[in-house]
Amino acid sequence: GRGLVWFRNDLRIQDNSALYHAGKRCEQLAAVFIACPDSWQSHNEGDALVAFRMACLHELQTQLQTRNIPLYFLQLSTFSQVPQALEQITRRLKIETVFANAEYPLNEQRRDHAVRDRLRENGVAAEYHSDRTLLPPGAVRTGAGEPYKVFTPFKRALIQLCAESEIKPLPVPRKKPLPKEGAHWPKWLALELEENKKLTQKIPEHLPHFAIDTAKSGIVKGWKSGEKAAQKRLKLFSERISGYQAERDFPALDSTSHLSPYLNCGAISIRQCMQMALNLNQGHWQSGNAGISCWISELIWRDFYTHLLVDFPHLSKGQPFKAETDQIPWRYDKDLFCRWSRGETGVPIVDAAMRQLNEIAWMHNRLRMVVASFLSKNLLIDWRWGERYFMQHLIDGDFASNNGGWQWTASTGTDAAPYFRVFNPYSQSQRFDPNGDFIRRYVPELDSLNNKEIHDPPSMANYPSVICDVGAGRKRAIEVFSNLK
Ligand code: FAD
Repeated sequence: GRGLVWFRNDLRIQDNSALYHAGKRCEQLAAVFIACPDSWQSHNEGDALVAFRMACLHELQTQLQTRNIPLYFLQLSTFSQVPQALEQITRRLKIETVFANAEYPLNEQRRDHAVRDRLRENGVAAEYHSDRTLLPPGAVRTGAGEPYKVFTPFKRALIQLCAESEIKPLPVPRKKPLPKEGAHWPKWLALELEENKKLTQKIPEHLPHFAIDTAKSGIVKGWKSGEKAAQKRLKLFSERISGYQAERDFPALDSTSHLSPYLNCGAISIRQCMQMALNLNQGHWQSGNAGISCWISELIWRDFYTHLLVDFPHLSKGQPFKAETDQIPWRYDKDLFCRWSRGETGVPIVDAAMRQLNEIAWMHNRLRMVVASFLSKNLLIDWRWGERYFMQHLIDGDFASNNGGWQWTASTGTDAAPYFRVFNPYSQSQRFDPNGDFIRRYVPELDSLNNKEIHDPPSMANYPSVICDVGAGRKRAIEVFSNLK
């Protein structure tokens, strides 16, 4: 029969569960990608993220061609139009089964349920495969059958389950025979939807709301798109992974993998990453080389946050994980928020970090925690403002990890540590950027200062003075959190 692979954030041909199963079961395969720029925008996805996704989509189309699988493109506005569109596409292309990999934020889950129901009425099956995480959400449970709310026991349980079988990436499907005369895949199809939508094999250079012209977009230039580039990065990182634990917290060293944009649009799979790490570490998850086991642990954080989304749907509704923290008198000071977002707070490490985000659409993990703590604790500004800004600007924006990271830092989420942990941006700066190398890179006006002054500069003409009393902010945060108890 004929199958249709519906690609979303899984833009690769190797180790792709939906594509693999479709290839095994169907004689003929086509693929489709449906852009929904209005929905993407309402989820705060930004230019860098969408441009990178579209660039990866181009590469995917070329890869699929080598397997005789045409990739169609359709542009709608919102998720709500997808069921009707897929109904028409499957009817016109005589598809029996639609294959896709599951997505877990609430609106994506609702979209996929609606598609399944709609297609079923027409005798077409929709199959969603578990692919984005090491284990499917719901598979890791406490002895009492409950979801884990704390990372370390989650990690232990996940490792135990994973160790039962080998992690084996799936092969690319074999080349499909070209359809016989008279049964060719059409070059394009006019669909009967509002606004005369057309299914084409041409991926556009422009989309409403987003600057995706990748040639011009300097941000995306530094990130080579596609599956091959991702594999290359993984290989390069594997040569440095031993130093990961010792160096990962120093932003000037640039010693992390930079795989997050690829993992998030699916140009590389979590299993491919984990397999590389386990192979190098003789199959050990938690022992062996300290750099490797540390990296493995970071990859499991990604699973943890994605699993939480499915078990706690209120996370997708803008609510804190811990309900009581909604009583915190968050501040909504637009001016302070604007200074934070531009990297003009007068705290050099915070400013350098925010400028890194604004310049390359990515930020080092240590600094994500430092700036998130500064906004939500020292300034007591609603963490959701920060979460949104990150999502709008990160090339690796991922709802689960971003929401998880913000809630962890703001102490509204899952964290084993007590509420009064507030990062001190100055000591973080001295500890993790001791010579100010990172600060100098992004805040060049401080370059002339010595290694001591650079963390907390004297009054200067061309650099702002601190926008808040950092110590008093810390005290206030501790107070409002302790009032919750
Ligand atoms: P590496 O250190 O090489 O780690 C490898 C991979 O492990 C990463 O690519 C990522 O997939 C995963 N990972 C590592 N740390 C974490 C973590 N703390 N939580 C979840 N997954 C992790 N990550 C995103 O992918 N998208 C986001 O939108 C995002 N927002 C964040 C917001 C805040 C406030 C914080 C504190 C963290 C956020 N992270 C996010 C997690 C982390 O900062 C990035 O994954 C990491 O910096 C990406 O760089 P890398 O690929 O070089 O990571």
